[in-house]
Amino acid sequence: MDKKALNKTGRFAAVVLAAGRGSRMNSKVQKQYMLLDGKPLIYYSLKTFEDGPVNDIVLVTGAEDIEYCRKEIIEKYGFNKILAVVPGGKERYHSVYEGLKCLEAQGGYGQGDYVLVHDGARPFADPGVIARVMDDAVCYGACVAGMPSKDTVKLSDDAGFAGVTPDRSLVWTVQTPQGFAYPLLREAYDKMMGRAEYQTGVTDDAMVVESMTRHKVRLTEGSYRNIKVTTPEDMLVAETFIHHRADI
Ligand code: C5P
Repeated sequence: MDKKALNKTGRFAAVVLAAGRGSRMNSKVQKQYMLLDGKPLIYYSLKTFEDGPVNDIVLVTGAEDIEYCRKEIIEKYGFNKILAVVPGGKERYHSVYEGLKCLEAQGGYGQGDYVLVHDGARPFADPGVIARVMDDAVCYGACVAGMPSKDTVKLSDDAGFAGVTPDRSLVWTVQTPQGFAYPLLREAYDKMMGRAEYQTGVTDDAMVVESMTRHKVRLTEGSYRNIKVTTPEDMLVAETFIHHRADI
């Protein structure tokens, strides 16, 4: 399909996730609010969406952090596209579902519209990655940013020994944003949320579409800089990227 021939007619929303506890960071401050070059980590992905072509942003955060986000992030930095700040849930997929429901209830999202789900802990999703995900969401209905794995990957067996070694040329590590036609992702989530046995080990949105529908998910070129800040050393990498934006 000629992607350039596609018209982006529907609206696009970004659901930005910041309701995780960030327990792997070993820090008193939740990782999404840790300061990176003087600004909370979550600022960077919100700013990229604010300055880009999406129409609306829903920020999903802990219930106790909503006021902080309104005052210290949205008002302070003058974000205008944030449709709502909503409380998330226990697991990432609960938080995504709250964001999706809010888009329908407060934004009227439905047929013909698109949604990008993004981890707020990924401050370096640049405009190029977002544009590619938007294009592929329109072209294929479902896509996920990712990059070919630099490392060989092994799946362990139950006893902690190497089990399967997939062909590295086929292995991608996936990132966010993950982009979808809104009704497709909503339908997949509605189905999954209705049955507890479907909810085991759900760590991204693409796998919800893969397992709940027959729709194929396109792998879209992300960026090796688009890291998820998860453990303390990731903050050092993030600081390097912030201070050498143009060099890498
Ligand atoms: O836990 P994980 O690293 O997969 O989290 C990815 C993103 O999802 C983070 O930005 C985190 O804040 C968010 N999250 C969430 N609600 C949860 C768990 C994670 O919004 N219950």
